Amino acid sequence: MTDCLVVGAGLAGLAAARDLANHGWQVLVIDKGSRPGGRMATRPLGEAEFDYGAQYFTVRDPVFAAAVDQWSRQGLVRVWSYGFGESAGHPRYAVSGGMNRLPHALAHGLEVRTRVRAGSCTWTGDRWQVVAGTGEVWEARRLLLTAPVPQSLALLEAGAVPLPSAWRSRLQAIAYDPCLALLARLAEPSRIPPPGGLPLTGPVLAWIADNAQKGLGSGGFGVTLHAQPAFSASHWDDPPEGVAQQMLEEAAPYVGRVAEWKLHRWRFAQPRTLYPERCAGSEAPGPLVLAGDAFAGPRVEGAWLSGIAAAAWLRQR
Ligand SMILES: Cc1cc2nc3c(=O)[nH]c(=O)nc-3n(C[C@H](O)[C@H](O)[C@H](O)COP(=O)(O)OP(=O)(O)OC[C@H]3O[C@@H](n4cnc5c(N)ncnc54)[C@H](O)[C@@H]3O)c2cc1C
Repeated sequence: MTDCLVVGAGLAGLAAARDLANHGWQVLVIDKGSRPGGRMATRPLGEAEFDYGAQYFTVRDPVFAAAVDQWSRQGLVRVWSYGFGESAGHPRYAVSGGMNRLPHALAHGLEVRTRVRAGSCTWTGDRWQVVAGTGEVWEARRLLLTAPVPQSLALLEAGAVPLPSAWRSRLQAIAYDPCLALLARLAEPSRIPPPGGLPLTGPVLAWIADNAQKGLGSGGFGVTLHAQPAFSASHWDDPPEGVAQQMLEEAAPYVGRVAEWKLHRWRFAQPRTLYPERCAGSEAPGPLVLAGDAFAGPRVEGAWLSGIAAAAWLRQR
């Protein structure tokens, strides 16, 4: 039995797990994905490489700033730009080699099991039991859930765990915008102006980025397109070909011939509503914390800060 089981190896889960492990806790992290990182996702398509979830991150909080400073000195992260299509402002950071390399580095040395989908969480009276889709059972003294909130609530409901009354309405009110993400490998360089990222305001697209300009891939021309939340919601179940066509039509000023493409659906892309605290912890029925970007800000920084807050909550008990 571990001291703490963490469901979700996104930035929140990994930040918490590292903090707890640094304090001598035995921690196990499970994730249904094929690799750690969650929405900090990078993948190849041919010789092109794509960041297709989070594109960059910003820094507001001094505690996060100290961590970013350390990652910069390690060569893990770098300033990509001081603004996109607008006048110079605060730094936007990218991860060298792709956004997924940051969670990958944070997972190093931790016990992280991927391709394990939690199906339910139950408090037995003296421990948490998490049953995976495969029938495997994991036991822990404390439980940290960092999946998007509706998914964490479904795990508790499946295990018949009563929600602390102080949480109920606030957690159930948390909703997320979806995002349809198109990964397009081009036959020629894109026409996206330097530094290679552009927020858009049309009916279809919210963002377009040139991954090659960002330094990803080995010679391929990979462009990431993110659809607007309203377009993503109304075209969620459409066949991929029609969605891709509409996204590429609006992107025509920036992209030429497309060699191949892939559509990714982010059901819980970014939270619209936030919980008023950086994590939600409860002693009853057993030590349980919920964390993630819905708790400390709908972005990479918020996820990391929420994970750190969740670890502090657990350590103080
Ligand atoms: C398209 C898009 C663009 C974005 N752009 C930016 C940006 O430019 N800048 C920025 O700062 N932020 C951006 N974000 C937001 C940022 O990616 C997130 O805020 C952050 O990565 C969330 O981290 P997290 O740990 O809270 O959640 P996640 O990264 O979602 O991690 C949760 C993990 O839980 C796992 N999980 C879920 N259910 C289960 C289960 N039953 N069993 C096991 N594992 C489970 C998932 O596989 C996932 O790995 C973007 C997000 C998206 C989708």
